[in-house]
Amino acid sequence: MKKIAIIGSTGSIGTQTLEVVRANKDLKVVALAAGNNGELLEKQVREFQPKYACISSEEKAKDLKVKLADMQVTVLTGMEGLLTIAQMDESDILVTAIMGMVGIRPTIAAIQAGKDIALANKETLVTAGHIIMPMAKKYGVQILPVDSEHSAIFQCLHGEKREQLSKLIITASGGPFRGKTRQELMNIQVEDALKHPNWVMGRKITIDSSTLVNKGLEVMEAKWLFDVELDNIQVVVHPQSVIHSMVEFQDGAVIAQLGTPDMKLPIQYALYYPDRKFLAGEHLDFAKLGTMTFEKPDMENFKGLSLALQAARKGGSLPTVFNAANELAVAKFLDHKIKYLEITDMIEESMNSHKFIENPTVDDILEVEQSVYEMIESRW
Ligand code: NDP
Repeated sequence: MKKIAIIGSTGSIGTQTLEVVRANKDLKVVALAAGNNGELLEKQVREFQPKYACISSEEKAKDLKVKLADMQVTVLTGMEGLLTIAQMDESDILVTAIMGMVGIRPTIAAIQAGKDIALANKETLVTAGHIIMPMAKKYGVQILPVDSEHSAIFQCLHGEKREQLSKLIITASGGPFRGKTRQELMNIQVEDALKHPNWVMGRKITIDSSTLVNKGLEVMEAKWLFDVELDNIQVVVHPQSVIHSMVEFQDGAVIAQLGTPDMKLPIQYALYYPDRKFLAGEHLDFAKLGTMTFEKPDMENFKGLSLALQAARKGGSLPTVFNAANELAVAKFLDHKIKYLEITDMIEESMNSHKFIENPTVDDILEVEQSVYEMIESRW
């Protein structure tokens, strides 16, 4: 029986993780944590009967305690609750399905407690990869990628010698606006940006996919996860999203991982690694698929990727600035407060006005996050 704790259980990755648990009798949920969705968390607690349930605010925690009075569950709250869950004796693995830099501290706490991490929360590696990866090595824990591209690379590398790797090739769908000019992007509406051509995901990451910011975050995540130089990571647009990513080896051989777009596959792979298990759902039919196409990403019209690469090259605190500015900008766009192209304008301006820190601590990272928010609020 594998015992799993999930932070971010009410979101897109969290609910799909629970679907995987539902289909497998040898997985047991020992803790669930949500942000605001107390109603869904209550349902999840009733179904999965974890030891702990955590919700972000005190008020919601009080309400949840009353509602769950008939259940044997301890209700926790805030960061303290997340840290308790991250370190609890009863868990084998922590699934970080939470959104944002709030995932950094629980991930560190879990690593220090010797727990493996099924990592969806890419913000943690983007901003604190230089802290997380050496720490995981020190404590002998595995960081198992949930992001589909990173899971694909992880699968391609299985059984291979790392020193024989030549480059990583990360595929991108190109999003719903592939081929559009900046002029055409000017009046994009929230509803248009939320229509991803291939994947069903949370709202924030769907916008990030449309701006190519998500691909930039993934390049940074890959750099840390696989310890590869940026020059050896290539992004290629593959609109059909059938190849989830590839690895090229020194002899020129390229190994790819293919499948239908279903996040349950990488989630399940992370939970059972190195084993594979049956997964219900549609499988690939190559005769139906017909063609697969590839093209270069358009970094001029979609500045999200070029700004991310700039942040990744400089390193230090700049990826945090990139990520924080994007988080707030996307929230404002989703709230109809700014226009689509202002998302990358905000990121660029934040990066240009930032006082660089070479080797930020976790406290520095969280302070930079706050200062970026304050700067944006004061100027926009
Ligand atoms: P969602 O917005 O759908 O879900 C986010 C989850 O985090 C929700 O459960 C939310 O709770 C919870 N949460 C937010 N803030 C807090 C907090 N302070 N304390 C506790 N819980 C909190 O996001 P996704 O599932 O789409 O993404 C989650 C992570 O996975 C992100 O880092 C994303 O980049 C990554 N990812 C997502 C993919 C996808 O297909 N969706 C693919 C690859 C990576 P609530 O809803 O209750 O407020």
